[in-house]
Amino acid sequence: MPSNNGCIKFHLNIEDQNIIFTDYFKKFINGKFHKVYLTELVQSACPYCHSNNLKHNGHYTSNVRFIIADASKPITIRLRKQRVLCNECLKRSMVQSSLVNKYCHISNASKRKVLTENRSMTDISKTI
Ligand SMILES: [Zn+2]
Repeated sequence: MPSNNGCIKFHLNIEDQNIIFTDYFKKFINGKFHKVYLTELVQSACPYCHSNNLKHNGHYTSNVRFIIADASKPITIRLRKQRVLCNECLKRSMVQSSLVNKYCHISNASKRKVLTENRSMTDISKTI
């Protein structure tokens, strides 16, 4: 679904070329509907010798909470990271998750923003 992939990435401000959105659904978790996006993190070259001659060797799945300003509509991104075995240098590697750090950074920024807004709202209610 290349068009969906591009559309979701545009919506979530994700620019990484190695992330491919494959599916999405709603799931009821802890009393809230989460939007769950299924993604695949692909590795196109060996990080050691930069060869493209890779053999796929399974996946590692992790769930990333993508916190947006509207906390009533949480987003979970299920990231399937490809594990590969390089046919040239025979080293194993897993696609690196700089994006997860990027998500965490965005999430933390969102949390700080919400906290700041809550505090200022309390201040406002005290002054009235
Ligand atoms: Zn290699």
